[in-house]
Amino acid sequence: MDQDIERVLYSEQELASLCDSIAQSINNDYIGRDVVLVCMLKGSIMFYADLVRRINVRCILDFMAVSSYGSAAVSSGKINIKKDLSESIKGRDVIIVEDILDTGNTLYYIKDYLEKRDPASIRICTLFDKPSRRKKPITPDYTGEVIDDLFIVGYGLDYDERYRNLPYVGVLRPEIYR
Ligand code: 5GP
Ligand code: MG
Repeated sequence: MDQDIERVLYSEQELASLCDSIAQSINNDYIGRDVVLVCMLKGSIMFYADLVRRINVRCILDFMAVSSYGSAAVSSGKINIKKDLSESIKGRDVIIVEDILDTGNTLYYIKDYLEKRDPASIRICTLFDKPSRRKKPITPDYTGEVIDDLFIVGYGLDYDERYRNLPYVGVLRPEIYR
């Protein structure tokens, strides 16, 4: 599997320090509050697991799975909710934890969908952001790294459901895409 990777962009240590600094910001902003941390399955699992262990404010963990119709590498505007939250978010502070914000189609829809449940607040936390590809007006509140228009895999991020288990983030060899 490592042989499919052309180059490593973020090592395990670099990812850990991105998690440290995001968690520090969240911990400072939410002192004394009770937060619902929403994991967007499946891509966010590694980031989420590493992030929540660094959060020191009282919190609830909950999970959502969505799919968007489109090719393996690009999302479309149509979002399908495959698994909804199991806890109520009414009156609560919510943070949506995403692996990567690309066109913004997914989170633009999900934020609006969750806002109808009357939470106290909703913020977006993303490990990676590709603002150059944005199609919807959405800006993350917490970002690990802004990256160029590259398709990355590993640390939860897939290509055709593979490579999620890589402990680092990298770029695939061009011959893998077909
Ligand atoms: P958006 O709706 O913002 O265009 O897409 C967000 C979703 O597209 C992410 O949660 C992720 O599943 C997928 N995605 C966007 N860019 C990449 C990328 O570079 N690599 C991988 N593996 N998935 C991506
Ligand atoms: Mg995905």
